[in-house]
Amino acid sequence: MALARVSSSSLLLLLPSSTTTSSLLHSFLRPFSTSSVSTRRLSHPRSLPIDASISQASPLPPTAREEGEVAGAPRPTSRRPWKPTCLYYTQGKCTMMDDALHVEKFNHNLSMDLPVNASAADKVKPQKLDYFLVLDLEGKVEILEFPVVMIDAHSMEFIDSFHRFVRPTGMSEQRIKEYIEGKYGKFGVDRVWHDTAIPFEEVLQEFEDWIGGHKLWKQKQGESLNSSAFVTCGNWDLKTKVPEQCKVSKIKLPSYFMEWINLKDIYLNFYNRRATGMMTMMRELQIPIVGSHHLGMDDTKNITRVVQRMLADGAVIQITTRRQPDTNDVKFLFKNRIR
Ligand SMILES: [Zn+2]
Repeated sequence: MALARVSSSSLLLLLPSSTTTSSLLHSFLRPFSTSSVSTRRLSHPRSLPIDASISQASPLPPTAREEGEVAGAPRPTSRRPWKPTCLYYTQGKCTMMDDALHVEKFNHNLSMDLPVNASAADKVKPQKLDYFLVLDLEGKVEILEFPVVMIDAHSMEFIDSFHRFVRPTGMSEQRIKEYIEGKYGKFGVDRVWHDTAIPFEEVLQEFEDWIGGHKLWKQKQGESLNSSAFVTCGNWDLKTKVPEQCKVSKIKLPSYFMEWINLKDIYLNFYNRRATGMMTMMRELQIPIVGSHHLGMDDTKNITRVVQRMLADGAVIQITTRRQPDTNDVKFLFKNRIR
């Protein structure tokens, strides 16, 4: 997860399915409106099937809101209105793609949130890698969400995404319920989580099929990623959390997790400024926040937007951290780094 001060929660709404599209209503709750959240829960009992999950725009930082900006507003370069992302779709599980109203209301194309300006792409410096896999895990006790956005390192274009909600393996059902309620209830995505989450081991199997399909990794080689690397905001995701989860899930740490790019170190060395988290980077670079902070897929998209900006500013984004396979020691490749 991108460790930064939590600005606030936002909401999300899922509506019961119906044979008529007109019944697919949604209410856009105002941030901080907890009473509306409870109303939603009461009016949409768990027994009803869910049509879609949306991620609502986070409020911008107070100063921006006071200036009258609208949360989730499209960037000046884009005239398309911002839409909440369908979190069934991001996991390959949306069953409503033939429902015109659903498709109209929810974003089923992540590249819409990651537009690339052609003149900005011209400024990208030669890179050592061809693709970046931006990753921002959620879940402190166990991993709850594994979201990855793949972009082209040279054109900055969105290529693909991989997103799974992850079901803890070392917890009771009751504990999981409480954990998910506390973590995702405020975003209104607890139901899509319960509908779709699978154990970490299965997530990795599906992820391996995905990176294999993109020719970024071969299972039999047992090697690091081919001409690509994970980009994370800090070392926590791959230095700490994934190895911990592998222990809980009783699996060997896969070879594609042995090296990564800590964007904070790249940021420090490129701009010569320390950024303690995603929110600081976005504020300093004046990039508006899209979606809900601490909803993994939205944080991943926002970190991707920071990566795109840094590339356009001329940064060379390269491996910062490597784990020694024999000793398991982690080696930091940059002298000047965030500790
Ligand atoms: Zn959908």
